[in-house]
Amino acid sequence: MFKTFPGGVHPPEEKELSEHCAFEVMPLPASVILPLSQHLGKQAKPLVDKRATVARGQVVAEADGFISAPVHAPIMGTVKSIGRENNSNGYMKEALVIIPAKLKEDEEAPADVTMPPLDAETATPDEIRARVKEAGIVGQGGAAFPTFVKLNPPEGRELESVIINGCECEPYLTRDDRFMLERPDAIVSGLRLIMRALGVQKGIIGIENNKPDAIASMQKAVQGFDGLEVCALQTKYPQGAEKMLIKAVNGREVPPGKLPLDVGVVIQNIGTAVAVHDAVTKGEPSVTAALTVTGRGIRTPKNLIVPVGTPIKDVIEFCGGLTEDAGKVIVGGPMMGVAQYNLEAPVMKATSGIVVLTKEEVRAREETNCLRCGKCVDACPLHLLPTRLARLAELNRLEEAEEYGITVCMECGSCAFTCPANIPLVQWLRLGKQRVITMQRSRKADAA
Ligand code: SF4
Ligand code: SF4
Repeated sequence: MFKTFPGGVHPPEEKELSEHCAFEVMPLPASVILPLSQHLGKQAKPLVDKRATVARGQVVAEADGFISAPVHAPIMGTVKSIGRENNSNGYMKEALVIIPAKLKEDEEAPADVTMPPLDAETATPDEIRARVKEAGIVGQGGAAFPTFVKLNPPEGRELESVIINGCECEPYLTRDDRFMLERPDAIVSGLRLIMRALGVQKGIIGIENNKPDAIASMQKAVQGFDGLEVCALQTKYPQGAEKMLIKAVNGREVPPGKLPLDVGVVIQNIGTAVAVHDAVTKGEPSVTAALTVTGRGIRTPKNLIVPVGTPIKDVIEFCGGLTEDAGKVIVGGPMMGVAQYNLEAPVMKATSGIVVLTKEEVRAREETNCLRCGKCVDACPLHLLPTRLARLAELNRLEEAEEYGITVCMECGSCAFTCPANIPLVQWLRLGKQRVITMQRSRKADAA
């Protein structure tokens, strides 16, 4: 029996469209749009002016505060503008636009900027943390939290294990699967570096059992390393959510409002482990994104390595373009990703995929009255009451929604997926949650 968590749903996996596509490196785009905030936390501060020539890997914006990450130029070029641009989260944010520089005949292109490589076997915890910070690495699992912060837990926390999230539970996406097949040793090296930085002796790689080749590949890669193991998990959405992963791997519950740290665990994504390895052993800053481009609305699905900041439309074009019946472009997976209204928006450091669904697949289904079947309650991995919360959000009864725990909702969409009445539960929950958070903030401000 494979380990898992209670609740959850089984959406069609759709991995076959891209799971056999080895990573390809995309050629340089005609321009990159580089948001200064590609992570949770404070936006980075620009260090260059318009018209500056920058080298690939040069820091163009520095971290501004503890929860912040620097931004590096992903291509050699000239800063064309600094201003507000669309990003793939659906917001207008401060960004640098860089175009390849037109060098004069006798002018040499500036060399790529990398950091001096460190020995992975002897690098000290301080050196590893400093390198991760300098490289601007952010979590590759969706939330894009600066990785350096996760490697600096508050004093006095007893940490027991690092779990590497190899579940890739969103339908369609196969990027992490490809990493496990193509770079298993880099993942193990990154995991060991993260464990050393945290002073932890136990490392577990959790993988859903719909990826047997990845499980075999990682089992082989951990051989001979003390304290490392691979844990095969039942394939179920959202098995890759932090709280669900911890519950499945070691049976611990992260209480509402608490973090994995509070139960002695740090979770990192597969791509983050690779980025840590590359930053330490090759001195590479975070200037590329690895992503899956897939779905029946794209002509040639691929797994790609692209410069951060590449416009989505260029990536789509490199994959043969959209099909005639393409209906929706989503950045991320179809369960939690963000539908795009502007394909000029760029790929960001934590972009894990671009999924294009056909018109038929996104056809709106008619909403009917709640059947009181309770399927949404069974599906919710956090034991919430989605139907009641959605209704309270709709009626704007925010205090009651707060009492019923709307802020705990992780917006996984399992409830909406399972609802036979097609009620947009997660959409109401998201809206209600935002309003409750705003209410809580103003309450705090009034009390101050
Ligand atoms: S979206 Fe929220 S309420 Fe719905 S299943 Fe996920 S956690 Fe539960
Ligand atoms: S799944 Fe849909 S129809 Fe069933 S109780 Fe929940 S909201 Fe109502």
